[in-house]
Amino acid sequence: MNTEKKWTQTEVVALYNKPIMELLYEAATVHRSHHNPNKVQVSTLISIKTGGCPEDCAYCPQAARYHTDVKAERLMSVEQVKAQALAAKANGSSRICMGAAWRNVKDGPEFDQVLEMVRTLNRLDMEVCCTLGMLTENQAQRLSEAGLYAYNHNLDTSAAYYEEIISTRSYDDRLKTIENVRKTNITVCSGGIIGMGESIANRAAMLITLASLVPQPESVPINALVPVAGTPLETMETVSIWEMVRMVATARILLPQTQVRLSAGRTNMSREGQALCFFAGANSIFAGDKLLTTPNPAVNEDMDMFEALGLIPQQPFEKKSQPETVIPEAVQYHDQRERPQWSRPDHRIERNLAKQQQEK
Ligand code: SF4
Repeated sequence: MNTEKKWTQTEVVALYNKPIMELLYEAATVHRSHHNPNKVQVSTLISIKTGGCPEDCAYCPQAARYHTDVKAERLMSVEQVKAQALAAKANGSSRICMGAAWRNVKDGPEFDQVLEMVRTLNRLDMEVCCTLGMLTENQAQRLSEAGLYAYNHNLDTSAAYYEEIISTRSYDDRLKTIENVRKTNITVCSGGIIGMGESIANRAAMLITLASLVPQPESVPINALVPVAGTPLETMETVSIWEMVRMVATARILLPQTQVRLSAGRTNMSREGQALCFFAGANSIFAGDKLLTTPNPAVNEDMDMFEALGLIPQQPFEKKSQPETVIPEAVQYHDQRERPQWSRPDHRIERNLAKQQQEK
């Protein structure tokens, strides 16, 4: 049973619009009582099947019907995916999300190959997530049996605004896939995108839908639209940092135990802006210079940001093993043993010296 507060749209809009200092304080208080505020998970998204999608999501450069720079590619091999996952792990990622530009999963050799990818990445001691489109109950079960840790299926926006963005499948289809995932041991990752022309009421309604799921999703990505030339939303204005901070803070208050993920749109955010989002309750970023097909900050930039902010990357499965553990005195972010090698100061000094040598 979901024991969280039942929010009304009016309440959530009022929360979102609070004076920013009050909103930040409230969100940070919720965050600190459910999470270690100095830990942020680093995840990597691998586009295992890029482009050529038959759907019409208005924000997406991978939709075959839009004329973008994205070219359709074949499904990657298991070995290619494993190599990218190993590189991501070496760069501090504890979670891999494999994304395929499919409307839905089809049983057959390609799905079998994805199941093999899941089994292979599981052996790397990382959280393995997939986002493959709509799933039947049986397909969700097969992914679960292969050891999948999380399945991403975003709501994208509110039910009321959904038809402005996508016409090729319904909101109920989305909820059905989430329901199918929930019948297995796989955790649920579902979030949305802001900056697509929706109102604050639409944003609030989407968060209420997510917060009303029983249980609430373990993971909620908050994306800022990256307008891509050739898509119907190409002329949308960039989302301001204050909208992002407000959305993250509101999500944190409605979804106290969830991993709130700062996802697409980070390239438009300053380090200070991202720090505010972490303070407001975001506790995950996606690493790598591309997020599926759109730009993302480079790994080195993120490493520098972690160091400047004293952040520690979360270990894989940390949230599952300690769902509610946050003891203020346990927040010892200078404990070097918790840091992966790349973020330890001694390692970074060596890296910078090596870089200087190369530049000479
Ligand atoms: S968001 Fe996913 S389903 Fe929609 S067009 Fe892009 S790849 Fe296809």
